[in-house]
Amino acid sequence: MTAVDAGLPDFSAMTPEDVTRACEDAIAACDAGVDAIVATPDAERTFANTLGALEAATDGVSQASGQYAFMAYVASEDALREAGRDAEERIEKYLVDLSFREDLYAAIKAFAERGESLGPDEQRLLDFELRDYRRNGFELPEAERARVRKLSDELVSLGVEFQKNISEWDDGILVSRDELAGLPEPFVDSLRTEEVEGETLYRVSLDYPEFFPFMGKARSSDLRRTLFAKEQVKGGDANVAVLERALAARREAAGLLGYDSWASYAHEVCMSKERERVASFLADLRERLAAKVEADVALMAEVNGGPVNIWDWRYCHDQLLQTRFAVDDFEVAQYFPLDACLEGLFAVSQNLLGVRFEPRPNAPVWHEDVQAFDVYEADGDEAFARFYMDLFPRPNTYGHAAAFTLRGGRVLPDGSYQKPVSAIVANFTKPSADTPSLLRHSEVETLFHEFGHILHQTLTRATYARFSGTRTERDFVEAPSQMLEHWVWDREVLASFTRHYETGEPLPDSLLDSMLAAKTLSSGVMTVRQLYFAHLDQAYHAPGFDGDSTAATRELHEITSFPYTPDTHFQSGWGHLFGYDARYYGYLWSHVFG
Ligand SMILES: [Zn+2]
Repeated sequence: MTAVDAGLPDFSAMTPEDVTRACEDAIAACDAGVDAIVATPDAERTFANTLGALEAATDGVSQASGQYAFMAYVASEDALREAGRDAEERIEKYLVDLSFREDLYAAIKAFAERGESLGPDEQRLLDFELRDYRRNGFELPEAERARVRKLSDELVSLGVEFQKNISEWDDGILVSRDELAGLPEPFVDSLRTEEVEGETLYRVSLDYPEFFPFMGKARSSDLRRTLFAKEQVKGGDANVAVLERALAARREAAGLLGYDSWASYAHEVCMSKERERVASFLADLRERLAAKVEADVALMAEVNGGPVNIWDWRYCHDQLLQTRFAVDDFEVAQYFPLDACLEGLFAVSQNLLGVRFEPRPNAPVWHEDVQAFDVYEADGDEAFARFYMDLFPRPNTYGHAAAFTLRGGRVLPDGSYQKPVSAIVANFTKPSADTPSLLRHSEVETLFHEFGHILHQTLTRATYARFSGTRTERDFVEAPSQMLEHWVWDREVLASFTRHYETGEPLPDSLLDSMLAAKTLSSGVMTVRQLYFAHLDQAYHAPGFDGDSTAATRELHEITSFPYTPDTHFQSGWGHLFGYDARYYGYLWSHVFG
């Protein structure tokens, strides 16, 4: 049996040179594998020596990406992050090149024409390969296909640049102690300070654990406005330009490939299938939400004593939580120390799925805050998967919450199973000198959500990496996570793991009752916010889009029910526009299944 960490690099000692070398080695090995496939005489083609061999050849490249290029998102050292980014771009471009290789296409077509009788998984793999070739323009004249290829390459570079500009964006505001009134002591203590003309000022950055509490609790609407406006230009003008170039490239590629838009191109391989179905889904949802949104905003206006701006709504929501439901975010957080949350999360998963998690404190990790865990069958003694948890913000690293695949599951040629490895990267509230990491309830929900992706990746039994774990239709991928989120509202589950970090008391029933009563508070406003994102993403990728991303951001803003903030362009900091392009609606769509 193979140990779960066999073949994994020593993350704690990785150098930029290691990243570059691993990436080049994987590419060379893949090239050798592909050359062998191409050299096989057509009369001798089998599934194993053609498609099976291709899957094996490309898996090495996926692993180099998952384990080395991954440093682009998590490494503290600039040079290592830079090497990771270069490797990511190199690998993605290599995969574009590979997908445009004529000789490989000819080999796969020759195999398809032999009519070997295939099992369902094998047939599906073949169908998907042929579909990809068609979608790459292999049925187009050569000049047009070459243009599609050039655009694909360009989109890779633009995507890397876009994410870099977001990760490395750093901004914030300096405020006095008085201006932090309303925010709890541990929050204030966690802020960086600066001495300015004899006064101690506190820096509130755009990092989630600082930004969201400030928007929820800071009493000064002006300061909230200032911080919000800074958040809404994350990525800068540079990223507006990157995005608009990418939208144009996607539009041109879709046109060459015979689609009316990039949205139609993207939807073809989603559950939704058609742009019109997405549009009517979103329109229908908007209509059904209208009354709730109106009521939400009216309630907010009441506590605000006047019209509510977009930088006020979180504050109004927080005020309503406290005054009408007696729920305070930070008070609730005292019952959710991170350790307890992990215990609860693991217990739920274990009971539900018959698996067991064991910490691996000695596993090499890329930062001291990262924890490693191995996954076992409940009564098994051989780990079959590994995951890492990297949960706190660090400068210049990934600023959102996501699950990454470091190694996908698949059946190996000897019949054994390649053990999946994945990681959660998130930005939760850090421990301070005298308090452990205390998660706000929304953070607990995010933790459970991301862990749903980990389970999806970890428990996969797919034969081929192509269909393994979260490599499913984009608008279905959120469903398992949304199922897990439900547990953070379950009374029994909460009673089983919550404990006050000082007294050890579980979350009081009365407090949970209040939280449950408040569960739909502002839900209309929160959902139309998602709806706005989904609409905007569709608009960017629909036929007839005029190329001005900020104009669309402004014009559709009324969906949020708040006025647009002048001189902002939040789309420059919206990482999903690369990867979830034309498919952001999936977050709402998945709820139907979750
Ligand atoms: Zn998710």
